[in-house]
Amino acid sequence: MAHAIEVDGSSKFSLQKIDPSDHGKIEKEEAEERLVELGKKFYDLMDLMFASGSESLLIVLQGRDTSGKDGLIRDIMGHVNAQSVHAIPFKVPTEDEAAHDFLWRIHKEVPSKGHTSIFNRSHYEDVLVVRVHGLVPKSVWSERYKQINQFEELVQSNGTIIQKFYLHISKDEQEERLRAREADPAKAWKLAVGDWKEREFWDDYTEAYEDAISKCATKDNPWYVVPANHKWYRSFVVMEQLVKALSPFEDRWQEELKAKREVAMKEIEAFRTK
Ligand code: ADP
Repeated sequence: MAHAIEVDGSSKFSLQKIDPSDHGKIEKEEAEERLVELGKKFYDLMDLMFASGSESLLIVLQGRDTSGKDGLIRDIMGHVNAQSVHAIPFKVPTEDEAAHDFLWRIHKEVPSKGHTSIFNRSHYEDVLVVRVHGLVPKSVWSERYKQINQFEELVQSNGTIIQKFYLHISKDEQEERLRAREADPAKAWKLAVGDWKEREFWDDYTEAYEDAISKCATKDNPWYVVPANHKWYRSFVVMEQLVKALSPFEDRWQEELKAKREVAMKEIEAFRTK
């Protein structure tokens, strides 16, 4: 059984029930070893997906400041063929982006067949930060859950495998990480008073996340909640889930690749005997 906590929208979801320090009774050394093994498998699966060109992979990462989105992306990128993977950060919308509907900038970054996109924040910001700070009226953001579901359904039906992860840290862990940043001159580029300001809205974000996760999860397109106080556990859990998500496609991708090769070889042979 995989360790990521699957939320499929069938019942009301509460973050409070999930311990951010949980590490599934796995110790650090074992998790790191398993990450390496899983990483190799992931590399092979992604190569196969790229070669067969039938599906694409969209990884959505959400979590509070310091929850480890950047670190996780580094860990994933360490196990992939960089040619087929792009990490895309979504920041405060630019003037041009803000002049369009909220999914416009997102849709453009959905991976093409064979490719993978990792969203560092995503369209979910439009029902998180936007809701918490009332950047648009409730009548607008409350419609967005339905719009997100329709959008994700469209993307999925076009062959994109969606994997949505919420990195779950505790309030104490966040404080520790923010203070550790302040103490480390090498992390100066990450220092932002905004992180302390957002922390004051902790409970509002909890509510917004619980709603986003509950309302935008289905059996076919669940959310995965990942206890993330332990960085080594977080990366292991996400990698394990990604391998689990891609594995069912392996046989078909192999077949497609074989069929492609046969067609190409026939063409080459026909050309040679001309
Ligand atoms: P990060 O914290 O992701 O490493 P930044 O410090 O640049 O990077 O933060 C990006 C900021 O952009 C976050 O505070 C996030 O809430 C904000 N943001 C992202 N999408 C939106 C949006 N649609 N509307 C308003 N703010 C957004």
